[in-house]
Amino acid sequence: MKILVINAGSSSLKYQLMDSVTGEVFSKGLCERIGIDGRITHRVPGRDNWVSDIPMPTHNEAISAVIEALTDAEHGVVKTVDEIDAIGHRVLHGGMAFTDSCIIDDACIAAIEKCIPLGPLHNPANLMGIRACQKLMPTKKQVAVFDTAFHMTMPPEAYIYAIPYEYYEKNDVRRYGFHGTSHRYISQRCLELLGRSENPEGTKIVTCHLGNGSSCAAIKDGKCVDTTMGLGPLAGLPMGTRCGDIDATIIEYLMGIYGYDIKEMLNILNKKSGVLGISGVSSDFRDLAAAAYEGNERATLALDKFNYEVKKVIGEYAAAMGGVDAIVFTAGVGENSPVLREKMTSGLEFMGVELDKEKNANCHGEELISTENSKVKVYVIPTNEELMIAMDTARLVGEN
Ligand code: AMP
Repeated sequence: MKILVINAGSSSLKYQLMDSVTGEVFSKGLCERIGIDGRITHRVPGRDNWVSDIPMPTHNEAISAVIEALTDAEHGVVKTVDEIDAIGHRVLHGGMAFTDSCIIDDACIAAIEKCIPLGPLHNPANLMGIRACQKLMPTKKQVAVFDTAFHMTMPPEAYIYAIPYEYYEKNDVRRYGFHGTSHRYISQRCLELLGRSENPEGTKIVTCHLGNGSSCAAIKDGKCVDTTMGLGPLAGLPMGTRCGDIDATIIEYLMGIYGYDIKEMLNILNKKSGVLGISGVSSDFRDLAAAAYEGNERATLALDKFNYEVKKVIGEYAAAMGGVDAIVFTAGVGENSPVLREKMTSGLEFMGVELDKEKNANCHGEELISTENSKVKVYVIPTNEELMIAMDTARLVGEN
């Protein structure tokens, strides 16, 4: 099936038209500055990028620009929208309502709306993308694929917070976790590589999605049993600009000293913390590596902190699952930084992790980077969230 995959943000919208079986990408692109002025960058493999400034006061004009680009006589890849079989949307927060992707109907939209307090920045933007597609392509079936859904198999001891239970019962306060589509894709792919996709019972995998946003997940029997992000995506590992887990006392302490209100405080924890906050150099791991190479001690400290926390989580998840068969690295840092992969796994020899340094250094794309004798297999598996969204969309549309 030809599936249009949409990832709508508040002022930007990414799209891909792809084959849900082969994964072939016919075209992908980005609408930027929605609500400001508007620009579309449209890419077709083997052709020059097409960039056009088009007014986009709302997401409707952005989707309209996507349709025009996809069907354009010169830059397009289909004759008419009739060739698009269905549309899959990335949606951030599915709360407790969604344990799987879902066909978009009134009930699904109402449930996504109900999750807005849990995902206040993303869910409204995701809904704008959905509504624009409904308006402009009313006959197309649409599917919502949630970042949280894969993690809904966590047991209560992993998802409950040690605060009064009534906040869980009355207000849905619990660990949800994010990057679920990515963790699902790479864990399924890992099971295939282990030859266990048909019988995942007994398998134990730690998946590490390390990019600008980062999270790890513990996958037992093919199902998520723990993950580092929480009610929102601020928790867990230190990230590009997000703090990850911190002592909540810090919040009151700093608000008291500097007179910040809670919005200012959260802005610092979301936008000015993480490896950017420690280094003062950049949130980009390539910049940090360059600065560290030139002797910048705080850049080195930021990278050390990141590596240390990832390594600690791998150990925690080994304890939680009673062992590990495979560790998987993915996303910008996980796929591209042999140096960090080596640092994150060094010291784990005691639990049977033995990295093949040469394979690690020369890895491009999907590869096994542990030695033949390593008890724990270490893989790099490039993530493909769009393909997962397209596959879910085709599956659900096919069932309906
Ligand atoms: P993502 O959010 O998955 O797109 O990942 C973005 C992050 O990956 C940025 O911080 C990049 O600096 C980082 N990244 C990309 N390539 C490399 C590389 N070769 N070495 C280290 N970090 C990289």
